[in-house]
Amino acid sequence: MKKIAILGSTGSIGRQALQVIDELPGEFKVVGLAAGANIQLLVEQIRKYKPNYVALGSSEKAAQLKNVLPTNVPLFTGKKGLSKLVEAADLDFLLVAVSGIHGLLPTLTALEKKITVGLANKETIVTAGALVMETAKKYGALLIPVDSEHSAIWQCTEKENQQAIEKIILTASGGPFLNFSTTQLKTVTPQMALRHPNWEMGAKITIDSATLINKGLEVIEAHWLFNLPYEKIEVVIHPESLIHSLVQYHDGSVLAQLGCPDMRVPIQYALTYPFRQANSFPRINLAELGTISFQKPDFTRFPGLLLALEAGKMGGTMPIVFNAANEIAVKLFLQNSIKFTEIPQIIEGVMAKHAVVSEFQIEDILAWDKWARSLTVKIAKGVI
Ligand code: NDP
Ligand code: MG
Repeated sequence: MKKIAILGSTGSIGRQALQVIDELPGEFKVVGLAAGANIQLLVEQIRKYKPNYVALGSSEKAAQLKNVLPTNVPLFTGKKGLSKLVEAADLDFLLVAVSGIHGLLPTLTALEKKITVGLANKETIVTAGALVMETAKKYGALLIPVDSEHSAIWQCTEKENQQAIEKIILTASGGPFLNFSTTQLKTVTPQMALRHPNWEMGAKITIDSATLINKGLEVIEAHWLFNLPYEKIEVVIHPESLIHSLVQYHDGSVLAQLGCPDMRVPIQYALTYPFRQANSFPRINLAELGTISFQKPDFTRFPGLLLALEAGKMGGTMPIVFNAANEIAVKLFLQNSIKFTEIPQIIEGVMAKHAVVSEFQIEDILAWDKWARSLTVKIAKGVI
């Protein structure tokens, strides 16, 4: 049995990963579970999967787990809790499915221990792509993408033909406001933006999908994961979300990976790699589908996508600053403190105040992240 820990087990990806594990009895032993603050669900999961290690982001709520956990099961809390769990546990596989930058330290800890990492958390690779890839290489650890587009590229990349890749094409659904005018976009509320047409996801990534910033983050993610220059990464809008991404080779052949918009499929592929296991998840029916469509992204109505691409191309510390500004701007939008269209405006303001630093260490990443968060709040409040 593969010994696995899930960081972010109470979230959208974490819950679906547990469904995959339920679907494949006898294949996995859940050794570790970690959540932020959803005690009720975490307790249910602890009772069902009986992990050997548990971590909780919220130190204040830790007391509520005391009577639930057997005395021999350690509970790690606070900022370093996730890394401590990874440090302590004997694992074959770590699924990093927390949201935000919390995924970074435990990912590095796992790679240093040569544990295979299934990475759903895109903020980790966006902020620390070079460091994460170098660490994986240095320790000979496998990093498997879980994000559906990157899983598609991973599946379509022929190991012996990596040099023959002409470009990769990431598909984007376009989100719920694909056909909204600039005027209509100004009226978007959090409730409207939280309704994604194709995917059931956590709040942060759902808003990122509506601004198309998610696709920008994914371009940066792809740049690092597949070691490709930005000129070789293209984005195309594909509203049906059935083709999850494509790889074009220099002989003109294009390989695509298709499937229902169901994250359990890329999660399962990461978990069972290099094998494909049978499951009962829904299948696509091409004849019933009839047609599928594609269009160019519109950078005028969705400037956040362009900003993300610029941040990626500027490189160095700019993606850290971009990511932090976006996390805060999304939070402020969800609190009704700023308008939907102010998200990219505020990020642009933060980026304008940052001079790129090209050489940096892990401490610098966290410091620049903090700097950008505080600046974002000030810009949003109009203090600066
Ligand atoms: P959710 O918001 O649904 O879940 C986030 C998870 O992280 C929850 O379990 C949450 O716990 C946990 N968490 C948050 N902060 C902490 C912390 N400090 N310590 C420990 N756990 C914490 O997000 P998603 O599942 O949608 O996304 C997770 C990641 O995967 C994101 O980076 C996202 O970009 C990426 N991703 C998601 C996809 C999707 O379809 N959902 C697709 C591709 C990538 P709690 O709820 O208990 O507070
Ligand atoms: Mg994706």
